Amino acid sequence: MRKIPTFLVVGGGVIGASIAYYLSETFPNQVVLCEKSSPPGIGATAMSGGLIRMNHTQFPLIDMSWKSYQVYKEIGSSCGFQQTGFGLIIHKTYAREVEKAVLYMKESGIPVMVLNKKEVSKYNPFLSIGDDEFLVYEPISGFADPKKTALYFINKAKENGLRLYEGTKVDDFIISNGEIVGVRTNIGPLHAKNIILCGNIWTKKLLKQINCSIPLYSKRIGLMFLHSHPSFTKQMLTVIDDTLGTYYRPVFPNRLFVGLKTEQTNHQTPIYDIPNLSEIHQTYDLISKRFPGIKPSQVAGGRISFDSYTPDQFPIVGKIATYQNLFIATGFNGGGFKIAPAIGHWFVSYFTNEQKENHPFNIDRFSSGQVLTRDIAYAHM
Ligand SMILES: Cc1cc2nc3c(=O)[nH]c(=O)nc-3n(C[C@H](O)[C@H](O)[C@H](O)COP(=O)(O)OP(=O)(O)OC[C@H]3O[C@@H](n4cnc5c(N)ncnc54)[C@H](O)[C@@H]3O)c2cc1C
Repeated sequence: MRKIPTFLVVGGGVIGASIAYYLSETFPNQVVLCEKSSPPGIGATAMSGGLIRMNHTQFPLIDMSWKSYQVYKEIGSSCGFQQTGFGLIIHKTYAREVEKAVLYMKESGIPVMVLNKKEVSKYNPFLSIGDDEFLVYEPISGFADPKKTALYFINKAKENGLRLYEGTKVDDFIISNGEIVGVRTNIGPLHAKNIILCGNIWTKKLLKQINCSIPLYSKRIGLMFLHSHPSFTKQMLTVIDDTLGTYYRPVFPNRLFVGLKTEQTNHQTPIYDIPNLSEIHQTYDLISKRFPGIKPSQVAGGRISFDSYTPDQFPIVGKIATYQNLFIATGFNGGGFKIAPAIGHWFVSYFTNEQKENHPFNIDRFSSGQVLTRDIAYAHM
């Protein structure tokens, strides 16, 4: 008979994959991963834009992004990492916020500089910002491929004895003497000592089975593609345009991804869709302000998906108080990819340290009324 594994991870997107991988490094042959589809799954990871940057709205998120960056840089081509440089275009009314972010980043050792309109053209001749804007430039950032990354983590975890269950949907929990001892799935019961839920918005429904309610909803988010000339793409930075409220990055050799302007109402279910004409028009109109030379014929489709969001726009990570051995990592608010390695690392430190410290993004903040606030408040980011 097989030994009961120490960890059962639910969800094979990039978050579950990272947690499974890092746990398997420290606890070989003790991790099981259940994915109802096949990794990298059918959620946000499969549709993500993959931007990697350190500038963020909260200091702990800057730390997590920086820690994760080292991993992406080291994995390199195995996760599709491209060091294009990253720029945040920001209006000068946010100068004080930029100062705070840049100071924190510099103190953390993150290369960053603030460029004005004239200086930007040195780094990217195609990108034009206004006299009333800055570009906060991170020369070492860029983007990677979230699907490739999730598969990389899972394949590495398999080398450490990960047991992967594909097409395996966790439907409910098995409870014995007040403790969760396993899960019920479409392939039968699976037992484990600790269970970590990384099922994005689906986690909400699963937790309802044990009368646990989490403040989570999904939002329609997506990307529009544009054809572009390889000479343009080659020199393009990865950008978050806080003035316009969108983002864009190159897709080599001859396309651009642009963050789609979508209707941002809250939903309770996952979303799979294609962009509608109004979303395409809105996004196209917006982006043509930044790149006046683009033509409607350059639009090359798009894709729509979702991520789970929380009321304070920060993730939910850590233990669920009701049960000693039930954990969660979800609600990444459209930004989970860039911090996925740091989330995996945190679980290892939790299970290896005597002192069980709560994650800064623990779920208890909602019941105690101590929701988090932004350290740095830009317009859109
Ligand atoms: C269009 C778009 C652009 C984005 N751009 C960026 C970006 O530039 N940078 C960035 O950092 N982030 C970005 N994100 C966000 C990022 O992709 C997500 O935060 C991240 O992928 C979330 O990963 P996850 O593993 O939590 O969820 P998912 O990838 O959704 O994975 C959850 C998995 O759990 C499985 N599952 C659920 N329930 C069960 C169950 N009961 N049993 C078994 N399996 C189950 C699902 O099948 C799914 O595969 C973007 C997202 C989108 C959609």
